[in-house]
Amino acid sequence: MPSTAEDIQAIRDNVRALCQDFPDTYWRETDKKQAYPQEFVKALTESGYLAVLIPEEYGGSGLGITEAGVILEEINHSGGNSGACHAQMYTMGTLLRHGSEEQKRRYLPAIASGELRLQAFAVTEPNAGSETTKIETRAVRKGDSYIVNGQKIFISRAKQSDLMLLLARTTPYADVQDKTQGISVFIVNMRDVKGNLEIRPLDLMVNHHTNTIFFEDVEIPASALIGEEGKGFRYIIDGWNAERILVASEAIGDGRWFTERASSYSRERVVFGRPIGTNQGVQFPIAKAYAHVEAANLMRFDAAAKFDRKEKCGAEANMAKLLASEAAWEAAEVCLTTYGGYGFACDYDVERKFRETRLLTVAPVNNNLILAFLGQNVLKMPKSY
Ligand SMILES: Cc1cc2nc3c(=O)[nH]c(=O)nc-3n(C[C@H](O)[C@H](O)[C@H](O)COP(=O)(O)OP(=O)(O)OC[C@H]3O[C@@H](n4cnc5c(N)ncnc54)[C@H](O)[C@@H]3O)c2cc1C
Repeated sequence: MPSTAEDIQAIRDNVRALCQDFPDTYWRETDKKQAYPQEFVKALTESGYLAVLIPEEYGGSGLGITEAGVILEEINHSGGNSGACHAQMYTMGTLLRHGSEEQKRRYLPAIASGELRLQAFAVTEPNAGSETTKIETRAVRKGDSYIVNGQKIFISRAKQSDLMLLLARTTPYADVQDKTQGISVFIVNMRDVKGNLEIRPLDLMVNHHTNTIFFEDVEIPASALIGEEGKGFRYIIDGWNAERILVASEAIGDGRWFTERASSYSRERVVFGRPIGTNQGVQFPIAKAYAHVEAANLMRFDAAAKFDRKEKCGAEANMAKLLASEAAWEAAEVCLTTYGGYGFACDYDVERKFRETRLLTVAPVNNNLILAFLGQNVLKMPKSY
């Protein structure tokens, strides 16, 4: 049964209350040390909110993307960064829809309780980038195992996670008629593999625990295969709408944080004898960014409602991701401008959130690819790829 407006508000209030234990100083210090917010992820797991998409029979609460989105939104709205743990929600659909009963029984209750973390999703490769079908990492069946060789790049939280959803080619690109075929998805327990699995951290602009991963004769059990061999690209695509709606929700949380901080600062900061917010050159850009964030929010809820009703929502999910990430970025720029020089001071957190929200226009999918989806699939214009 869908949640009522009161249910959603209760989730919002509870997540807000939980986030109060993790104030700006907590996230600032975590960022400065490039640390993983263990305490926050533990608290969120114990509260059950990280497992809302897991059905009740497997230890979760069986809620929808609408509720999951509100949770991630409130984390970012509080000043936090849901990037520390959002992948569990992003990847859940693949396991729920295409995993075997045995896989669900083995993993879902342990993920829900926090005993196992599913926080790593390995898709991107140096020679593939946005062109996912060009991935070269190979998984070759050998008896009851698959032997994996290849390289992934930009894989977040691999060191903080136990499980990784891995996309690999079981048939090389050159040997398939349809480029989307021959790709398989595996659920890999990284703590229990044979061979050489090397996780090498990348030094990035954001505290995202992102790595290059090298697979050298890594042996995983055949039972790690999700669904049918060679059909994995389809399974991943099935999860993309959910991912886009969740990213949009995070961006809306950021957008609200920026417009609230900017308007509050503009009321307090006095220059030339009056609050800077009195000046329309300061006030109007904040008001405009606010309007754009709220408009994106409507698209997000439209997409989420359609997704939860199992209706087609590709256009809405993509538009929500595009509009929300752009609105959040606009709000970030406006907030930084409003703070003037103080916007660059780490103690005000604007520069940290500024870096974090910029990522949402690029990852997990670049907004150019979103525009290509709208142009090609919705508006039926010629394809660029
Ligand atoms: C902090 C961070 C964390 C990440 N975490 C993960 C993760 O956990 N797992 C994972 O698998 N990946 C992850 N990624 C990778 C991310 O998903 C990719 O960076 C993103 O999808 C873009 O791919 P790319 O960087 O290879 O860009 P490229 O594909 O190399 O593209 C470069 C530019 O060209 C543009 N472009 C390319 N083709 C076209 C076209 N046909 N039309 C218009 N524009 C085009 C792109 O939009 C982009 O602007 C992460 C990235 C970052 C930065």
